[in-house]
Amino acid sequence: MTRQMAWDAVANAGGQPAPTTTRKTNILVVGDFNPASLRPGANVSGKAAKAFALQDKGQDIELMTEADFLQVLDGTSTMDEELRQLIDQQEAKSDEVGAHAASAPTFRPLRLPAKPTTQQCNQAGCEAIAAFRTRTRPTWCVDHIDAKLTDAGLRPLEEFTHPESYRLTECLSCGCQAHYRLEYVLTKTAEGEPTCRACYWAEWSRETARLQDEALQRAGLTPAEVELFYAAHGDPRIRRTHDAEGFVREAAAKHRDGLGDAPVDTDRFVQRVRCRHCGKIEVIRSNDLYHCTCCKC
Ligand SMILES: [Zn+2]
Ligand SMILES: [Zn+2]
Ligand SMILES: [Zn+2]
Ligand SMILES: [Zn+2]
Repeated sequence: MTRQMAWDAVANAGGQPAPTTTRKTNILVVGDFNPASLRPGANVSGKAAKAFALQDKGQDIELMTEADFLQVLDGTSTMDEELRQLIDQQEAKSDEVGAHAASAPTFRPLRLPAKPTTQQCNQAGCEAIAAFRTRTRPTWCVDHIDAKLTDAGLRPLEEFTHPESYRLTECLSCGCQAHYRLEYVLTKTAEGEPTCRACYWAEWSRETARLQDEALQRAGLTPAEVELFYAAHGDPRIRRTHDAEGFVREAAAKHRDGLGDAPVDTDRFVQRVRCRHCGKIEVIRSNDLYHCTCCKC
């Protein structure tokens, strides 16, 4: 989507588009926004930084990805409405259980209800009905969605419901089970990365070790001197195991349970964790434990 198209779409929907973040801004759409880069202290664009500063001062301002923005513009039934309905239902249920349960906060459910459509699958030559409704993005039938997961090296362990659902999958290479959204799978495949974060971080730690080795040899160090360097500064070829307990403690403080099974062939700074709020299973590095994305604590 171009800037002008976004501008027109906001105006058509009755919004007031503006070129800069101001005290009146309540939604900031960030084109190349990666939620992972939104950690405190991360490098963000000037507008996003200003948005955070305004958030700190109590302004009700929301950062949105281009995908979220398109979803909101996408027809009458937006994600927000569907989520709202679902959360209302959950709250009604917990009301029945009792006053104590009713006061418990509710979180985005992992699985969202289906968005039925009469649209056709966008896969060339496929005449099946698509599995979800959209006006702005491609859509596919269930078989072709599952084929995309296979292409990404994953086997789905649950039925497809909604493109924004987190779906439990198993990695075809390493067997690691974790939840991924279809959008995430498509993005990682397009970037030529494995979706499985266990495979990704394993490759990343091997590559880090290899690059450091190369750099030391280029610097003219003999193998013996390289060993001395590693003895003094830590050896990236050795899997770091000393902080696994710290990781689990830190995860618990951030509302996640460490599942205690570091993915095969990654260092122990990478672990599988389950969110206590919504049950989402993720493979993450200790650095990425910073905050709980569910309750924004
Ligand atoms: Zn199809
Ligand atoms: Zn894997
Ligand atoms: Zn969660
Ligand atoms: Zn939390």
